[in-house]
Amino acid sequence: MDSPLLQLTDLRREFPAGEGTIAALRNIDLRIDAGELVAIVGASGSGKSTLMNILGCLDRPTEGRYLFAGRDVGALEANDLAALRREHFGFVFQRYHLLADLTAIENTSLPAIYSGHAPTARHKRARALLERLGLADRLHHRPSQLSGGQQQRVAIARALMNGGGVILADEPTGALDAASGEEVMRILRELNAEGHTVIIVTHDMSVAAHAQRIVEISDGAIVADRRNSSRSRRASSHQPASPQVAHSRLRASVARFGEALRMALLAMAAHRLRTFLTMLGIIIGISSVVSVVALGKGAQARVMAQIGELGTITMDVFPGSWFGDSRAAQIQTLVEADARALAGQAYVDSVSANLSTDLTARYRNRTADAQARGVGPGYFRARGLRVAQGALFDESADREMRQAAVLDEKARKALFPDERSPIGETILLGAVPVRVVGVLQPETGGFSGPTPGIYLPYRTAATRLVGKSHLENIIVRVAADVPSAAAEQAVERLLVQRHRIKDFYIHNPDQFRRAMTQANATLTLLGSAIAVIALVVGGIGVMNIMMVSVNERTREIGIRMAAGARQSDILQQFMIEAVLVCLTGGIIGLALALALGLVVALLSTEFQMIFSLPSFFLAFACSTAIGILFGFLPARSAARLDPVVALARD
Ligand code: ADP
Ligand code: MG
Repeated sequence: MDSPLLQLTDLRREFPAGEGTIAALRNIDLRIDAGELVAIVGASGSGKSTLMNILGCLDRPTEGRYLFAGRDVGALEANDLAALRREHFGFVFQRYHLLADLTAIENTSLPAIYSGHAPTARHKRARALLERLGLADRLHHRPSQLSGGQQQRVAIARALMNGGGVILADEPTGALDAASGEEVMRILRELNAEGHTVIIVTHDMSVAAHAQRIVEISDGAIVADRRNSSRSRRASSHQPASPQVAHSRLRASVARFGEALRMALLAMAAHRLRTFLTMLGIIIGISSVVSVVALGKGAQARVMAQIGELGTITMDVFPGSWFGDSRAAQIQTLVEADARALAGQAYVDSVSANLSTDLTARYRNRTADAQARGVGPGYFRARGLRVAQGALFDESADREMRQAAVLDEKARKALFPDERSPIGETILLGAVPVRVVGVLQPETGGFSGPTPGIYLPYRTAATRLVGKSHLENIIVRVAADVPSAAAEQAVERLLVQRHRIKDFYIHNPDQFRRAMTQANATLTLLGSAIAVIALVVGGIGVMNIMMVSVNERTREIGIRMAAGARQSDILQQFMIEAVLVCLTGGIIGLALALALGLVVALLSTEFQMIFSLPSFFLAFACSTAIGILFGFLPARSAARLDPVVALARD
């Protein structure tokens, strides 16, 4: 004797009810052979659906054994059960259980996606099945555009998609009018004649009358099992062919990923406003992270520009002990010889003495309050000043105490407002006539005040204008590649040696720059911390909405599981949705930050937000990570749903 296809032995299924349990099925012994057409009949609540779910590997018995084709189903894992459903079972439910967002042909193809069939083969077979069931002109209709009878025929096509060796139909005619019901029963009988094993659950004796064998169940136990004399069993010579066109594992995974992606996009599109609101937290978080970093970089760049070009360090040596030292005016030890001594040092790029006095400058009938500055020829290089017209004075001008002057942009404007070149003209500084030899380019981001500046050779200024020879300060530009701290120490050592005491101090803006950079980094960190909090809040929002989404789509999950979806397929679908929501939010946030940068650029010429590639990557990485992190729990709870519980949900 052949071993039966399905064999239940002393099977029991209990459900928790209040304090204890109730047995929905007990002492079930049932064997069904391949090719049979069996009706399971009984009153409502007698346990028919429970039995059906166990037969279809959607549910497990509490006790007893279920052998399917000789395999002990009780020993199988969730994914093995999914594989059994995928390969051997086709379900037809009373309420059709089609996915509302998919067309007839897409609903039909669903099981083949999870079993990894190639798209063209899948499509061809789904079309053939629907055509055979009289739905040739309804391939691209959605369930809502189909009648009940048509929907049930789509469900039958879906059951046959992967072969459907065993078709389990739970009240397949329960929701249909008499004519459609007849049609569905005719199709099921036909399929049985072709070799499919068909098991129909019904409370309706007239439906059961179509079967060759009627199993009666009452209060969870089988009370009768008889041959239906009016329906002789037809010889089923062949088993239905299941399509063996599976393609490579990789391509099958890609196809399942594609399906998950498509479903995620559909779900997002179905709730556009909600999806957008969910994204809002991510949008705000990402745009603030990127903006804060860009603002920080912009602020830093501006500070750098003000202090001097990156890489050149200029220090000032002042008499006294610190800014505002009242005795500094009496200290006369800082002299030009110090500057000359420093000029010979290897760590010095250029150096200049500096002495100034305020006076009135005059050219013909124009006068201006100006600052006359006695400087060495190294001054312009040390301060990064460039000539615009004429020339700068050199060593010989200083030696010969030439009465030559270089005007800065402000002095030129004050004394020579028209376009005429000042070069060669003579101006009066107080009572001293000097010839203009050069004009400087406007300073970029410098610290000089609004007073016009006129530069003279140091000795000319000291003897003719100021009348003293000790300096206001010495400017030292440190040679490239010399660390500023080392240069500062060397300058200090040299001057202490010359003065024998430390009656001067060194102002090194590099320290200031470093302090600014540090302050900036602190602020950026603080801003980023706030932005991260926004991101976490956004992530929690995503998690919340994903929970809602899973809850709303529980039935869809059940349908997919019945069609053979693995837990990983369901997990993947919801993870993709969460990541997509976050990634889209991240991209919008990034665009928003860039738009802000554009506005800042339009409004201000001096200050710019500086966006860097790493911050873009950070934005993408952040939003993806949030999607994965906060999407995981909801997705896992979806994947772990019990198929029976999920299917029962409305
Ligand atoms: P039928 O399909 O014959 O109408 P069911 O198999 O659906 O009956 O249910 C049989 C019994 O088991 C009923 O008393 C029902 O209340 C109970 N039952 C079914 N499913 C569950 C469940 N998930 N939890 C608790 N009780 C259940
Ligand atoms: Mg039922």
